[in-house]
Formats: sequence, C-alpha cells, structure tokens
Amino acid sequence: MARYTGPVCRLCRREGQKLFLKGERCHGPKCAIDRKSYPPGTHGGQRRGRRRPSDYAMQLREKQKLRAIYGLMEKQFRNYVERATAAKGVTGFVLLSLLERRLDSVVRRAGLAVSQAQARQLVRHRHIAVNGRVCDIPSRLLKEGDVVEVREGSRNLQSIAEAIGRGYEAPDWLAVDTNNLTVEVVRMPEPEDIQIDVDEQQVVEFYAR
Ligand code: SF4
Repeated sequence: MARYTGPVCRLCRREGQKLFLKGERCHGPKCAIDRKSYPPGTHGGQRRGRRRPSDYAMQLREKQKLRAIYGLMEKQFRNYVERATAAKGVTGFVLLSLLERRLDSVVRRAGLAVSQAQARQLVRHRHIAVNGRVCDIPSRLLKEGDVVEVREGSRNLQSIAEAIGRGYEAPDWLAVDTNNLTVEVVRMPEPEDIQIDVDEQQVVEFYAR
C-alpha cells in the first residue's frame, strides 16, 4: 500500500501543531514547529493571522491531521471511514479504534517503536510476528487475545532497545512484556484509551458532506 514519503515536519507545520511523526526529535529543540511556527511554502510566513477558516476547512484539516498521524493515503483512509460508518457504535470512535488496532499502531503504542513510520518499517521488514507467525502487513487489524512479538532474530535491534529505553507507558488495553518483547491485546480500546489531539467528529462530518 502506498504511503507518504515527503518531509513529515511539513505536515505538522501545515496543521500548526505537533503530530509527533519523528520520534525523539519531536521532543527536542530541533522540532520544526518550534523553529518555524508558520505554514510551509513560499508564502507560508504571510498566512499568519488570517480570518477564521470555514467549517469545511476545519473539517479538512482535522481529516488531514488524522491521516498524517497514521501515515495513510487518502484511499486507504477513506476505506476506514466507510467501514466505521457501516459499523455499530459512534462512528468517530469506531474509526479511531480501527486505526489504533492496526498492527503498526499497536507496535508503536506498545513502545516498541518511537513513531508510526518506524513501527511500520519493523512490520514491513518482518521483525514482528502475530500469534507465532510472521506478519509483514502493517494494516492487519488485531483483536482481543492476539499476541504480537518481536521475532527471535530481531530482539537485539538497536531501534527497539532505544524505543523501550524511553520508559514509554503503553495504554491499558495492551499488556507489554518488555523482557520478552511481547504485547498482548487484553481488550478492545475504549474511548479514554485513545489520546489523540484530533476532533474525530469533524473527520466524520467531512466525509458525510
Ligand atoms: Fe512534527 Fe516531530 Fe517534525 Fe516537530 S519534529 S515538526 S513534532 S514531526
């Protein structure tokens, strides 16, 4: 599946907020949002202080933020929205739940990677197994009882050691064993488990237009 390969700090600057797409750099002095707090592009610096955006513009921005956070292209993202719309429950939360239950998201939330992109790479490079079998599909949806593990030959990877070394605290719906590098999905995520600075309702309204 295609993915965005351009400069990711640009995406944060476009949204005017940190989306935490680059791991540790996002918490340090090199973060582009701290250094250039205006939109990217030749005239980005002149766009500050413009009039209030339209409802459509705000919905679009929320949608683009969520897409950037999970590193998804429009077509794949739209599929998630359609799936959430067809499912029972509050569409906005179902959408977030689907995105969080992706294999790459779980690897990141468990603290085995510092960013979504790094988590995706671990999966694509076959360092991750699900229920004892190698899985190189970042979009695989996990369910209660699934066990994710770092494969035997990949346990000494420096990137994983560094990610674990941060002491990141995983959400309660994931049971992480940092000694054995395993993650169990103990339950489905609840709304309070998903802490993302995006208004998912605006995203749903964007596609309902
Ligand atoms: Fe965004 Fe991280 Fe780049 Fe800062 S360093 S602009 S938070 S991706």
